[in-house]
Amino acid sequence: MPDSPVVSDTALTGGCLCGGVRFELTEPPLTAGYCHCTRCQRRTGTAASAQARIDGRTLRLLRGEELLKAWRHPEGGHEKLFCGECGAHLFSRDPEDHAQMSVRMGAFDGDPIIRPSWRSFVAYAAPWEPIPDDGLQRFSEAKPRPQPA
Ligand SMILES: [Zn+2]
Ligand SMILES: [Zn+2]
Repeated sequence: MPDSPVVSDTALTGGCLCGGVRFELTEPPLTAGYCHCTRCQRRTGTAASAQARIDGRTLRLLRGEELLKAWRHPEGGHEKLFCGECGAHLFSRDPEDHAQMSVRMGAFDGDPIIRPSWRSFVAYAAPWEPIPDDGLQRFSEAKPRPQPA
């Protein structure tokens, strides 16, 4: 039997659908939540997008940098990074501050441990899927960013 690859207990790994892009986080995500904005609805084809906020400096691309494409909205907002080969959405990033990033939770291989604890842009929630009464913190617009210490 071949030796199984050594996987660090703390490394959070993930990738895109075709496997061309692979990444790992050196630190756990900071927080996680659902975004109900209309851009996320269009981007994902679903009612909301689950994403984990990370410090972008803890993200290591293991392979596939050449496949990563970024969509930049002309009116601003975060860049949306996805695999140009399979179309899987992976990250969002503040174009002015790459430390401000999110990972799409569906991109993680295993259990990222963190759980969504808030819902943002609920004012724009899809009419066809009522927001569940799950007690998560709700923001009608963006979730305010924690002020830097
Ligand atoms: Zn891919
Ligand atoms: Zn959104």
